[in-house]
Amino acid sequence: MYNPKSKCADEFINHEEILETLQYARENRHNRELIQKILEKAGQRKGLSHREAAVLLDCDLEDKNQEIFALAEQIKKDFYGSRIVMFAPLYLSNYCINGCVYCPYHAKNKHIARKKLTQEEIRKEVIALQDMGHKRLALETGEDPVNCPIDYVLESIKTIYSIKHKNGAIRRVNVNIAATTVENYRKLKEAGIGTYILFQETYHKESYLKLHPTGPKHDYNYHTEAMDRAMEGGIDDVGCGVLFGLELYRYEFAGLLMHAEHLEAVYGVGPHTISVPRIKRADDIDPGVFDNGIDDDTFAKIVACIRIAVPYTGMIISTRESKECRERVLHLGISQISGGSRTSVGGYAEEEPEEECSEQFDVSDKRTLDQVVNWLMGMDYIPSFCTACYREGRTGDRFMSLCKSGQIENCCLPNALMTLKEYLMDYASEDTRQKGEELIKRELGSIPKEKVREIVKGRLLEIEKGNRDFRF
Ligand code: SAM
Repeated sequence: MYNPKSKCADEFINHEEILETLQYARENRHNRELIQKILEKAGQRKGLSHREAAVLLDCDLEDKNQEIFALAEQIKKDFYGSRIVMFAPLYLSNYCINGCVYCPYHAKNKHIARKKLTQEEIRKEVIALQDMGHKRLALETGEDPVNCPIDYVLESIKTIYSIKHKNGAIRRVNVNIAATTVENYRKLKEAGIGTYILFQETYHKESYLKLHPTGPKHDYNYHTEAMDRAMEGGIDDVGCGVLFGLELYRYEFAGLLMHAEHLEAVYGVGPHTISVPRIKRADDIDPGVFDNGIDDDTFAKIVACIRIAVPYTGMIISTRESKECRERVLHLGISQISGGSRTSVGGYAEEEPEEECSEQFDVSDKRTLDQVVNWLMGMDYIPSFCTACYREGRTGDRFMSLCKSGQIENCCLPNALMTLKEYLMDYASEDTRQKGEELIKRELGSIPKEKVREIVKGRLLEIEKGNRDFRF
């Protein structure tokens, strides 16, 4: 039985409910009147149910699809302005005891180099990341309680936060590690993590069991209920996602939104972010063997429909996607992107020798962070290195109420401009710096409250004098 309030995975992600949703969406995909009604509701910016959103995703009326894209773009502007938050992944270890068939870290892969960074190596990686200008990381590991236990992850987080190199600092560490216990989530919270990220991979239980044939990750319910345990452990910013290409995208889309509805229903706060990764070529992985790959048009439609369905949830796109693809979906709802990423264990401080190949997947966007920042500004986006919210205790429902009240413009925009200014002073190339200074001058005028604007002007001068880390 479908029950969003249940804590049992089979009830809050209910297979029959998804099938009925897909049928309802199919039957109504050219029901102009219903689609109009759903769009009107979405226009109130309060989100949509999974059923309503599924109808929009399936809609095949050309004019209505154009309205869907236009509305997604408008909602993106209303909630996130032109800010795009920057981050980089840091792979700590690729030891893994799971058998995920799409991931080269699977235990049976005997020729991939297995690595785990020492604390000294982490220091070097973090210094290299700080020297690029990064302030926010996403930690990644394979699952291996012996080679990569929780204590190692905790120690690594401590190391990362402790490194102060020149004007650099990592101010927010998000964590993408395998599903774990409430006790371990509590420890991660105490270590000061930002978001706990875990991709569901697929919400289709039968496929999930086949795609994860061995190892602890085989347990669908344990994996699917991980966000509940994270919330119980005190982590109220969680990041969901599916790996598109494994199962039918319409199924995943409905599952993803049901997961968000479940978190909202039980904990009063939906996911902080949703990621939209697609399967990529990797060491012994050929994406072509998965039947459910989606093209760029479908991908764009998914991003737009997620944006409309959960307006308060940030959306993340990684360097799995090309510059062109990223450019397209930035307009439709993406609010965070990575730049200058390496998906190998180590690789920032020194490039990994080709024969070692510890990469998790091929990166499509290989540009440097400076190039990405420059490119974003060329499209009038504001690259933001802000990490203020969780450091000011604005997590979970407190963050969501800031979003809902519209106060975010008096807070996020100033923080974005001040952290961009830090980047320009410390790391940017000359061209990027010039573009950035012009952008800051222009955007200062968009801060709604005059008093805030004046404070920001003062702080920008302070940053020029060498002071750092101002925030609202
Ligand atoms: N090991 C952790 C777990 O069990 O959830 C998560 C960390 S893993 C390093 C990060 C994510 O990379 C996975 O959740 C998966 O969705 C994604 N991934 C794995 N193989 C991939 C591939 N071939 N192409 C694109 N993404 C992939």
